[in-house]
Amino acid sequence: PATIGMVGGGQLGRMFAHAAMTMGYDVVVFCHSDDEPAAQVTRRVVCGALDDHDAVQRFAQQCDVITLEFENIPAETIRLCGQFAPTYPSHSVLATAQHRIIEKSTLSEAGLPVTPFVAVHDTESLIAAANRFAWPIIVKTAQSGYDGKGQHRVDGPQSAAEVPWSTADSWIAEQCISFDREISVVVARRADGVTKCFPPMENVHSNHILDVTVAPAAIDGSLRERAEQIASAAAETLGVVGLLCVELFVMDPDRIFINEVAPRPHNSGHLTIEAFATSQFQQHVRAVCGLPLGSTEQIVGGAAMVNLLGDLWNEDGSAPDWSAALDVAAVHLHLYGKRVAKVGRKMGHLTATAATPQLAVERAKAAREALTSVGSA
Ligand code: ATP
Ligand code: MG
Ligand code: MG
Repeated sequence: PATIGMVGGGQLGRMFAHAAMTMGYDVVVFCHSDDEPAAQVTRRVVCGALDDHDAVQRFAQQCDVITLEFENIPAETIRLCGQFAPTYPSHSVLATAQHRIIEKSTLSEAGLPVTPFVAVHDTESLIAAANRFAWPIIVKTAQSGYDGKGQHRVDGPQSAAEVPWSTADSWIAEQCISFDREISVVVARRADGVTKCFPPMENVHSNHILDVTVAPAAIDGSLRERAEQIASAAAETLGVVGLLCVELFVMDPDRIFINEVAPRPHNSGHLTIEAFATSQFQQHVRAVCGLPLGSTEQIVGGAAMVNLLGDLWNEDGSAPDWSAALDVAAVHLHLYGKRVAKVGRKMGHLTATAATPQLAVERAKAAREALTSVGSA
C-alpha cells in the first residue's frame, strides 16, 4: 500500500502518522476538523462526522489500507471503509471492543481470565450483583468510557443509588480488584496471523487515568510469559489485525485478570518510541501493511513515561515553560498540538530513559515536577 487511512484525529493518530510518513507512506486522516492533532501533521485530511457516510466514502476511496486510533467509532462506518480498502481492525473487532459486556463475555468464553463482572441496570440489580462478589464494586458505562469517564466506585448498598443510572443505557458491575500491580501488553498481529508481543509495561493510574508507565515491569519471567500468552490469545480470539493492547490486573503471581482491551496503539506503549527497537506506531504500520513485524526488544535498561494533563497548564491557557523539564537528563518531550487544555485532558507526555527502570521513573517524575515548581513560582 502507498496510502494509509487513519480514522480519528487524536494523539495516537498523530504519532501513527509520524511513523507511517517516516516509512514512506502517505497518510489521509479522517476527523472532525483539520486542526486536530493528527490532521496537523499530514497534508491530507477529510473532515466529517463519524456517521457522515458521504465523507467517509470520500476518505476511504483515497486509501489502500485503513486503520483507526480509537474504538468508539460506529461499527457501520468501519464496515463502509472496508468496502473500499482492507480495514484493520475490522468492524466486528470494533463492535466487540466498544462494549465492555460483549468484550468481557467474548474473552471469558475463550477461556481467558477477565475481572469478575455482571451486567446491571439499576440500584436493585447492583445490590443483587453484590451476592456474586463483595463490595466495593466498580460500576462502568458499558460503552464510550475512556480515561475513567463513566466509572463509579460503590462501597456498599447504601451508596448504590448514587450511580447516575439514567445517563447510560447499559452498565457493567465489576469486582473491585485489589491488585498488586497493573501491567499491559501491546501485541501486533498481521492478517496472516503472525503475532508479536511487546513485553509487559507496568502502569500506575491516578484518578482512573494513566499517570506513569515503566519498562520493564518488575515481574518474573513466568508472569511475563503468562501475560504475553493471554495477550496473544486475546488477539487471536478477536481476530485483530494491527495492534491490541491488553490491560491486566495482577493480584499475585497466580491470579491475573484482563481489565480491558483496546485494538489500537496505547498510552502505555508510548515509551517504545525511545526505548524499544521498534515503536508501537512503527509496529502498527508494519502489521496493517503486512510487513515483517519488528523486534520488540528493549534497547535501554529502563524507561518511564509520565502523562502531561491539562492540569499542568496555566490558568490563562498558556503552556508551562518546558525548559525546566528538558533540563533533566535523557528526557524527551512529546506534545500533541491540542489547542485547548482542560483538567484531565491528555496534552502530551514525557519519556525518560536510564540504566534502570527506577532511575528512569525518577527522571521522568523530576522533569514533570520541575514544570509545576516553575509555574507556581
Ligand atoms: P482507558 O480506556 O483510558 O484505559 P477506561 O475509562 O476504559 O480507561 P478502565 O481501564 O476500565 O477505564 O479503568 C481505568 C483504571 O481504573 C484502571 O486501569 C484501574 O486502575 C481502575 N479500575 C478500573 N476497573 C477496576 C476494577 N474492576 N478494580 C480495580 N480497579 C479498577
Ligand atoms: Mg478503555
Ligand atoms: Mg483502561
